[in-house]
Amino acid sequence: MRRFSADLVYTLEGEPIPRGIVITDDHGKILQITQEQVAFDPAIERYEGVIVPGFINVHCHLELSHMKGQIPEKTGLIPFIKSVVKTRGATEEQVLEAMQQADEEMWNNGIVAVGDISNQTISAPIKAKSKIKYHTFIEMLGLDAGKAAEVLSQAVQKKAAFQTPTSITVHAPYSVSIELVHHLKAYCKGIDNKIAWHNQECIEEDELYKTRSGQFLQFYEDLGIDATTFASKSKSTLQALLPFMPKKQHILLVHNTYTCLKDVYFTKRFEKPVFWCFCPKANLYIEDKLPPFDFFKHSELLKTIGTDSLASNNTLSILEEMKVLQQHIPDMSLTELLKWACINGAKYLGYDADLGSIAIGKTPGLNLLQRLQNEKIGESTTVKKLI
Ligand SMILES: [Zn+2]
Repeated sequence: MRRFSADLVYTLEGEPIPRGIVITDDHGKILQITQEQVAFDPAIERYEGVIVPGFINVHCHLELSHMKGQIPEKTGLIPFIKSVVKTRGATEEQVLEAMQQADEEMWNNGIVAVGDISNQTISAPIKAKSKIKYHTFIEMLGLDAGKAAEVLSQAVQKKAAFQTPTSITVHAPYSVSIELVHHLKAYCKGIDNKIAWHNQECIEEDELYKTRSGQFLQFYEDLGIDATTFASKSKSTLQALLPFMPKKQHILLVHNTYTCLKDVYFTKRFEKPVFWCFCPKANLYIEDKLPPFDFFKHSELLKTIGTDSLASNNTLSILEEMKVLQQHIPDMSLTELLKWACINGAKYLGYDADLGSIAIGKTPGLNLLQRLQNEKIGESTTVKKLI
């Protein structure tokens, strides 16, 4: 049994508890949450700072970890994708070693669960052995409508390689045919299949969908991809695709850099469980632009945080993402920001019975945040994994 105490305990189940004590068993399962009223008890591990639940990283690409520092910054999404395609060649050993390091980095940074996008199966053994709880999204790409069934069947085959939970998803509006989206919807019938897709990460994808114009047309031509099936839809990518997504599955919209208020209202017309994921450091790395937090910050929308991959980030740390968010949303409270970082992500991944908040019976992991500034995350705030 262990007892942890700090200046404040943020359980995310109620108000923060001053001088709270969290009692766990030897495996980190929460047995009791109480407040320190008695005199000094040597069995309590006391810390300066605040205790918070383990972090949930809902968006990562472990298999791109070997690209750290290799892709030029702030070029925009299309040049970024071209660079990733060019740089993807590395030996299996290099890829495996980088993924192993990335997995350890996330664990040490207090991350207890990860939603990870995979195009291949190379990350499967690392995830099976990891202390982190992974959910793998096997990602489908394909603009050729005639090959949609084949792309789906390849994705289904890849599931077998993973011993940890998986689901099948599509990559982004500019890399899939509507037929592939229809196939995904049909596949989802009667099963649990969480979906995560890159939404409105660059302005060009909306240009492509709204007016069939912009840089993507040249991009397809350069790659020899036939994009003649793309018709002008007079709608943003989100408005064009969401209606064709399955009704009952959790849907994660990742990035949302160019999402407008009208798009957000549009999502409310559907009774679909939509979650929003923000990866601010990757947005700054790729596009040098952040999503419009103004209408997200105090809404009831379910907001979560991702790190994206080391191809577009120099850290895999939810705390570092929170620093950018806090800096750009100064009036957001620590409790609110922690909901993005912990419980909302756990809900999306379906891990909230065990993770995401400090409650009796859960094993959420405990992080100690130190050097806060006025009870908020500041530039010098640190995270230490307690359990
Ligand atoms: Zn991504």
